[in-house]
Amino acid sequence: MTTTQTTTPTSFDIRSSSLVAELRRDQCQCGNAKKAGRPFCLPCFRTLPASVQNGLYRRIGRGYERARQRAQDYFS
Ligand SMILES: [Zn+2]
Repeated sequence: MTTTQTTTPTSFDIRSSSLVAELRRDQCQCGNAKKAGRPFCLPCFRTLPASVQNGLYRRIGRGYERARQRAQDYFS
């Protein structure tokens, strides 16, 4: 790929289609099982600050993306 777009430091894909796919998975980014519809397993979720946790209860398009991005910063 020779596209010259600025990339984020992490490989995290913020597109909503990817976020939906992530929510549908039953495996957390850490490898643990998680509930479908949740972005993370409970241990991962609990490591996040409350402000990020609250954002993750938002819907995609209503602030979820930003919270998910911030969560990625904590895990990376
Ligand atoms: Zn996890």
